Amino acid sequence: MCKGPLIIAGGGLAGGLAALALQRAQPEIEFVLVEGGSSFGGNHTWSCFDTDVPPSAAELLASLSPRRWPAHQVRFGAHSRTIEIGYLSVASERLHEAIIAHIPPERRRLDSAIARLAADHVALADGSEIAGSAVIDCRGPAGPMPGMELAWQNFVGIEYDATSGVPAVPMVMDATPDQIGGYRFVYLLPFAADRVLVEDTYYTLDPALDVPTVSDRVAALAAERGITGTPGRTETGVLPLALDGDPAVFWPESDPVPRLGMAGAFFHPTTGYSIGLALRNAAELAALPNPLSAPVLAQWSRGAFLRHWQATSFFRLLNRMLFWAAPPGERRRIFAHFYRLDADTVARFYSGQLTALDKLRILSGKPPVGVGAAMMALAGRRPSWRQ
Ligand SMILES: Cc1cc2nc3c(=O)[nH]c(=O)nc-3n(C[C@H](O)[C@H](O)[C@H](O)COP(=O)(O)OP(=O)(O)OC[C@H]3O[C@@H](n4cnc5c(N)ncnc54)[C@H](O)[C@@H]3O)c2cc1C
Repeated sequence: MCKGPLIIAGGGLAGGLAALALQRAQPEIEFVLVEGGSSFGGNHTWSCFDTDVPPSAAELLASLSPRRWPAHQVRFGAHSRTIEIGYLSVASERLHEAIIAHIPPERRRLDSAIARLAADHVALADGSEIAGSAVIDCRGPAGPMPGMELAWQNFVGIEYDATSGVPAVPMVMDATPDQIGGYRFVYLLPFAADRVLVEDTYYTLDPALDVPTVSDRVAALAAERGITGTPGRTETGVLPLALDGDPAVFWPESDPVPRLGMAGAFFHPTTGYSIGLALRNAAELAALPNPLSAPVLAQWSRGAFLRHWQATSFFRLLNRMLFWAAPPGERRRIFAHFYRLDADTVARFYSGQLTALDKLRILSGKPPVGVGAAMMALAGRRPSWRQ
């Protein structure tokens, strides 16, 4: 077996959490976290519901000082609802600070772009090489994913230093705006009484995001909601949503390199969010018995991916109904229908833990799309629209 540290390639959400969890649980394991950027975590705000956080990773999450709210809201036409499920948010700066505070300097590297990686080493862009006992690929999303049919959640978010209009709790979906581009909604995250993130989000089959146009829409939405103040930090996202795919093409059994995070498709098929899975995987990794060899890690991470893929087949089916059976302007009705369900079912939907009864509840009632269109979508018939 090759000697050397375990190399965690990419110090974003998944790699950073994996390193923090290992350092906490098994500090005797030698590892090095290698990040191409000048800070760990990049420029993100990672949010999720309280109920997405696996108990095994609660302490790990707490070390990132998340901002918490006791409830959140959704709004569809005249129907608005406050749901008593907590929501939380982690700024990428907190991940960076936690890594600097808890991981010794010799175990972390910034400004170290990786040109190539293999199961036992990484070659850096500056021509140097780091050899290790294993490499985990945590380099994040890389656009289209081989073997996967995807749709996208596109958004632009602008943070305002606001003098008015900041809601008390997050608005995770206000789907009242015109349905431009697909299923479109406003997302509001009130970090403080005078600071709010305003996002224009839409679900689409087209990954092209026109940032200036959508930024103008954010400004208009903020004004409509009475949010006055100064715009600051902007974030943009084009998050994958899974419709279908062949897991063996995406991640062949012969691939010797373990993966975590978006590099391993560890995301919720209907939201593109990955923080809950990144927390769970980090906790699982840190509980694996030492030594963490490349074959052990490759088998463990691919096994976790296959279990996740299998457990989320219902979400891909729903996505096909959403994107293939409903024209872009009609997709809102599917979410409006979903949000009539009880809070526990909503929580299990987002944490990816639906029961058979939940699935029945989601599919029952007056269908929000035509039966003919639904049958065509289920038969795999692609629609004529491109959004
Ligand atoms: C703006 C935005 C907001 C999001 N909000 C949420 C949210 O609220 N909740 C949620 O759950 N999900 C959210 N997501 C989706 C997803 O969870 C994030 O993309 C998440 O950061 C993915 O984690 P990751 O570790 O796979 O990738 P990343 O966090 O992107 O980490 C990958 C890291 O690898 C580094 N890297 C890449 N290539 C190299 C290389 N060649 N050499 C060295 N380093 C390299 C990158 O610099 C980066 O730091 C959001 C995504 C975006 C873009």
